[in-house]
Amino acid sequence: MGRVGLPAPVSELAARTWDVVVVGGGHNGLACAAYLAKAGRSVLVLERRDRLGGACTLEQPFTDPGYTVSPCAYVVGLLDQRVIDELQLRRHGYRVFVAEPLIWCPFDDGTWYAQFLDDERTAAGMRENGFSDAEIKGQFDYEHFFDRMRRALREGTRDTWVGDSPSEDELRALLDHDPELVDALFETSIADVLDRFVDDPRLTRALYGQGVIGAWAGPRSPGTASIKLMHYQGTLEGVPMAWGYVQGGMGRISFAIAEAAEESGATLASGVAVAEIRPGEGVVLEGGELILARAVVSNADPKVTAGLLGSAIDDGFAARMSSWRTTSPVVKLNCGLSRLPRWTALPVAEWPTWRQCRSPCRWTTRSGRSKTAPAASRHRVSPSCTSSPPTTRRWPRPESTRCRPSCSTRRTSWPRARGTNGATRSVNASSVSSVATATSTTWSSTWRCSGRRTSNGASG
Ligand SMILES: Cc1cc2nc3c(=O)[nH]c(=O)nc-3n(C[C@H](O)[C@H](O)[C@H](O)COP(=O)(O)OP(=O)(O)OC[C@H]3O[C@@H](n4cnc5c(N)ncnc54)[C@H](O)[C@@H]3O)c2cc1C
Repeated sequence: MGRVGLPAPVSELAARTWDVVVVGGGHNGLACAAYLAKAGRSVLVLERRDRLGGACTLEQPFTDPGYTVSPCAYVVGLLDQRVIDELQLRRHGYRVFVAEPLIWCPFDDGTWYAQFLDDERTAAGMRENGFSDAEIKGQFDYEHFFDRMRRALREGTRDTWVGDSPSEDELRALLDHDPELVDALFETSIADVLDRFVDDPRLTRALYGQGVIGAWAGPRSPGTASIKLMHYQGTLEGVPMAWGYVQGGMGRISFAIAEAAEESGATLASGVAVAEIRPGEGVVLEGGELILARAVVSNADPKVTAGLLGSAIDDGFAARMSSWRTTSPVVKLNCGLSRLPRWTALPVAEWPTWRQCRSPCRWTTRSGRSKTAPAASRHRVSPSCTSSPPTTRRWPRPESTRCRPSCSTRRTSWPRARGTNGATRSVNASSVSSVATATSTTWSSTWRCSGRRTSNGASG
């Protein structure tokens, strides 16, 4: 899975001058390589790890090779349709299922909140769980507020995801200088926005988390409203602001892009670390070899890239990069489960495949006071599996007849996870049932499809 290795001895790769060397084989580096190769450039991708995909890959962390997990990214929502079409990712194996419901959040009192693709269904679920008409309206107004921003930035006179990065002035103009929208984009906290629309603490508990995903921040930290906006600017399978499960796991996206890049003539190498970027000359590998390139594109993060450039960048920029704080609150736990969890709030239904469990936490307000608040913890259960036995293809595809999506509404039952000896197995996840700080915790369960299953299964 994505372990491409060396396509030729390093001495051979170093014997020519490449148009472009891409440092890093994450999905963005691979997409860059695919577009450049399609444009006729000679491209060499050098990935340090032994497999491609970066944080959007697949791994088999357990001794049982029947479990394949998405170790970092686990749901897709921001992969643009344009890229899917232009790189023909479906032909290269990409398949996605929109998550339904998008959010399902159980509460201690046995009630729950769910956000379905269909507003009527969301409203019915809220009524069933005792939310007032005012709260239901407030919840929809809140979503429409972000939808207005999404449409202004993506579907208005200019799609800000395409072309040059928009300036601040341009973004303000696209939002029609509406002070509330501009404030939400640049300044406000998620709590400041949500509190304007709803009062029910269950809703704030369920929805604050959208502003702190992956951020070293609490719901009242300035700027957290824009995190929700960032995550809701995508359109998946024609559905705006949706997220989905990729068949076979998120690494399939990177592997599909890698296949597209190779097909267009790019050369991909993994297990090759770049030690230095020499602008105008090329890159130096950790083994000391110089690879000549007219241009170098770095897919490594800016801090790493600054380190690779060393004295080639000016002191001011280097100082900015080294002082850039990248502390992360994210913990991800992959578990092999014998079945989907059962929820006291909804014992009969199996559809809530994406769950958020929240527990009270302490956070510090802007004024420095400590307050009790819903935790930013977020436990999502996103099923994922591939069939065994592992294949020997470089880009093994999931077999759709064996694994079906977790979000399929046609699904009637779930496969039982079995170890290689056929015994049902489970990994206890109780240690993550409560997170006491403003920490975002992702809980992704994985289970193994039995080899010959044809109708049931899960792929996330
Ligand atoms: C725990 C976690 C959960 C996430 N969940 C989601 C999610 O559900 N949905 C979502 O959309 N996003 C999610 N994300 C974010 C998403 O995974 C990343 O934004 C995305 O994968 C970044 O891709 P990239 O190609 O830009 O960089 P990366 O994936 O970081 O790729 C950079 C590559 O460069 C390589 N590299 C670095 N230095 C060198 C060197 N010196 N020489 C050679 N190679 C080098 C690295 O090994 C790496 O493979 C998550 C991230 C994390 C960490």
